[in-house]
Amino acid sequence: MSFVSNMAEIGTDINFARQLLREGKLVGIPTETVYGLAGNALNAEAVTAIFETKRRPSFDPLIVHVGDLVQAKAYSSYFPEELMALAEVFWPGPLTVLLPKTEAIPDLVTSGLDTVAVRIPSHPLTRELLLGLDFPLAAPSANPFGYISPTRASHVQDQLGNTIPYILDGGDCSVGLESTIVGVEHGQVIIYRLGGIPVSAIEQLVGPVLILPQSSSNPKSPGMLKNHYSPRTPVILGELEVLVADFRLKGEPFGILSFNKRFPDVPDSHQVVLSPSGDFGEAARNLFSGMRLLDKADVSVILAEELPEKDLGKAINDRLRRAAAK
Ligand code: AMP
Ligand code: MG
Repeated sequence: MSFVSNMAEIGTDINFARQLLREGKLVGIPTETVYGLAGNALNAEAVTAIFETKRRPSFDPLIVHVGDLVQAKAYSSYFPEELMALAEVFWPGPLTVLLPKTEAIPDLVTSGLDTVAVRIPSHPLTRELLLGLDFPLAAPSANPFGYISPTRASHVQDQLGNTIPYILDGGDCSVGLESTIVGVEHGQVIIYRLGGIPVSAIEQLVGPVLILPQSSSNPKSPGMLKNHYSPRTPVILGELEVLVADFRLKGEPFGILSFNKRFPDVPDSHQVVLSPSGDFGEAARNLFSGMRLLDKADVSVILAEELPEKDLGKAINDRLRRAAAK
């Protein structure tokens, strides 16, 4: 039990988490992508509490998490074959599909859209949690709206600990990036958000996809708001050597978020190397915790560089650009 009454209890008690969720309460849950702020997706009060706790605008729809394909089919009137082909390969995992919704899903969850975003997460704790519930979980990332997504239980505690009773601790997220969101229109597969499943892996199965351009005005993908996933400290993207030289001259304290190189004359507390060996998966796992670390460091700006635009580098660059957007 936690002795500090205004903080969430952190543990691995799945039964306790289920009990809270059945009572309509919210629980922090681990997934392989990021930690979620979960509530009963069929309970309008729980869903309202999710929006309020995150201070998330009601026009930004939630992803519904289920334990298996039977549950996924129960909440959609139709499962397009292209999306089924992807689900069969990538579920459980970091893929979200947009399906026509049934009446069972409250309009609140989908912000009035007639499609529902559905995913089967692969994290074993949350999978077990879901398989023992007779309702799906609406679960956006467990952070205040617009801030960096949490990738470990302590991140959730830091920001939402005083608003929820329990955080299920599943360790560090193994992917560390949000899910790839995929839909289909007139037989054309569309990626609405880049994420944990690389575009190339999707194209191998369904052929060329359309990546919806970043937009803050497209009502179909509010999660693609231009300025999102942002630290409070300003982020500048560019050529690191040039930026570092520039800020040295200015005499301003800066942090560095680099892909694979360390700057020997910069204190370690002021730099994060995402993957010394240049591995995209490792870089993805370290991205959000690295941003948080630098956001807490005593620096007035975070200097960052883009990764090669391939594989998970695409999704990482997408997050970096959003973090740097004004
Ligand atoms: P989050 O749960 O914070 O990772 O974000 C969920 C994102 O999924 C939203 O911001 C939307 O971009 C997207 N999404 C959820 N439901 C739908 C839907 N029915 N249609 C289109 N996009 C959706
Ligand atoms: Mg989010």
